[in-house]
Amino acid sequence: MTLVTGRPAIPPARIHELDAVVVGAGGAGLYAALELKRDLGPEARIGVISKLYPSRSHTGAAQGGVCAALGNTEEDHWEWHWYDTVKGGDYLVDQDAAEIMCHDAIETIINLEHLGLPFDRTEDGLINQRRFGGHTRNYGEGPVRRSCFAADRTGHAILQTLFQQCIKHEVTFFDEYQVLDLILPDGPKGRVAGVLALELATTELHAFRARSVLFATGGYGKVFKVTSNAHTLTGDGMAIPYRRGFPLEDMEFFQFHPTGMYKLGFLLSEAMRGEGGFLVNDNGERFMERYAPTMKDLASRDVVSRSIYLEIAEGRGIGGKDYVHLDVRHLGAEVLEHKLPDMSGFIRTYFGLDPLHDLVPIQPTAHYAMGGVPTDIDGRVLGAADGTIVPGFYAAGEVACVSVHGGNRLGTNSLLDILVFGRRAGKRMATDLEELPAAAVDADAVAATQARINALLASTGGERPATIRTELQEVMFTKCGVYRTEALLTECRDEVAALRERAQHLLVDDKGCRYNTDLGEALELEFLLDCAQATVESALARKESRGAHAREDFPDRDDVAWLKHSFARRSPETGAISLDYKPVTVTKFEPKPRVY
Ligand SMILES: Cc1cc2nc3c(=O)[nH]c(=O)nc-3n(C[C@H](O)[C@H](O)[C@H](O)COP(=O)(O)OP(=O)(O)OC[C@H]3O[C@@H](n4cnc5c(N)ncnc54)[C@H](O)[C@@H]3O)c2cc1C
Repeated sequence: MTLVTGRPAIPPARIHELDAVVVGAGGAGLYAALELKRDLGPEARIGVISKLYPSRSHTGAAQGGVCAALGNTEEDHWEWHWYDTVKGGDYLVDQDAAEIMCHDAIETIINLEHLGLPFDRTEDGLINQRRFGGHTRNYGEGPVRRSCFAADRTGHAILQTLFQQCIKHEVTFFDEYQVLDLILPDGPKGRVAGVLALELATTELHAFRARSVLFATGGYGKVFKVTSNAHTLTGDGMAIPYRRGFPLEDMEFFQFHPTGMYKLGFLLSEAMRGEGGFLVNDNGERFMERYAPTMKDLASRDVVSRSIYLEIAEGRGIGGKDYVHLDVRHLGAEVLEHKLPDMSGFIRTYFGLDPLHDLVPIQPTAHYAMGGVPTDIDGRVLGAADGTIVPGFYAAGEVACVSVHGGNRLGTNSLLDILVFGRRAGKRMATDLEELPAAAVDADAVAATQARINALLASTGGERPATIRTELQEVMFTKCGVYRTEALLTECRDEVAALRERAQHLLVDDKGCRYNTDLGEALELEFLLDCAQATVESALARKESRGAHAREDFPDRDDVAWLKHSFARRSPETGAISLDYKPVTVTKFEPKPRVY
């Protein structure tokens, strides 16, 4: 068949057979794949599909560290870490899941060390540890050193270590394949038995039949204008199940990290404040002392980001503008060059400033999705708020919502989450595999995906994806950002709906089949729009302020009405979005007012 543009239509899908498919080669996906191979043995056919070459996954950009209450440099206990995580998440955390994460953290870090991860050391040869926001000693008394690190390249070290282990254990990699849909042999809401993916080098469609599938595709920060996230973080792994009728949990909770580089959004790790840096306003005042008398600049991220906004709103931004300064001059050359070398390099390269002598302009930047595909503590995907399990479908890492971060994640808890729950998901998949027979490829899904790609390749008019994406990022950043109101969110919802309409007619200029990034951006725009809609709808409905969701019109937390997780679902037939709720699991720490 030939398309109207004279280009041949893409051929029918090539079919692959595997035991288990892991989508995503960041820390969560690689750890799961490694566990699958280790548990099932060399014969098991485990495939990792990734739209990026594995070592380019965003995990590799993580800077500051990964936490565990090792107590190597001062007294610490995993129960203190557990409490900090629950309080940091503004009590929306499922406490049973957080207990597992904080307890297992210690063994997970030791295990990683044995896999070869080169952590920084103390003079006695122990893994060194530093401070991070919201991590405290003795249930809130003051900051504690809990974050383990490899300079400010911790994620890079994790990713390389796990990738090398996967190669050693002969995991099969399908690099630069973008997954676009699920294979659902029993129709919507049934079991998952594989995925459809586009080979980016050739624009060919592949069907991967597998007895089980793990999504470990990371976040969707690219929905916002100013973000620390890589260009590729477009929420594919959330949008794919969502458009098939599966729910997304707690999407209204999106974290804005306090110290993004002004206008660029690139992250300056919290480790800069962990090592002693602090924020100042236009008067040179260290303003966090007013907002968080105990933890000051190391209060949780939602608190610090809101404080920066208030300083700016009250006219104390630098020169009256929308940024404040990070002061790290007093840390000295030794700390800046050896413990924070990449951060210091960023400041020199992108701002032309010298962190030893200059103040650094910063503003909050969209950073991390607390919400995502709902799972239980073993990575099994929940098909509804009542806890129904979707057979054969698993999720872990930033794409998933367990929920260990509740309304706001603490720094260094994400790398921990991807390791602990990536590993648990891999182990659970290995156990479950026997009960999951292989299934046929869903011919309707193949035909629908083929038709979608052919339609984009055949487009001769319409708007370019980048135009709509830029407008989407602007509206999400200004109307669904750090502070929200009913009026702003309603405008945002309507504008996103209008953008979605316009995105029905996209123009893909490139008709070629070698690395067609133009086509890729059109497909990713559709995913971003899905994630944006789920976020805004959930945010509009939640009439309280909790963690990263700050409503000016409902400034207080309301535990009576809102101590519950939201589940947004989009009807595949009508496109209508509905919301359902699931109670929060409280096992030990009763919700109380949150002060730092
Ligand atoms: C700049 C920065 C610094 C950070 N620093 C820290 C820190 O110091 N400590 C901390 O705890 N957290 C940190 N975080 C957060 C943390 O790094 C991430 O949340 C975490 O690494 C996510 O890991 P992941 O395995 O879930 O996904 P990622 O590492 O994002 O990997 C996603 C994978 O999915 C693949 N993928 C996506 N879509 C598709 C598709 N459609 N088809 C096929 N493959 C697909 C990608 O190719 C990639 O391999 C930081 C984040 C950023 C952005």
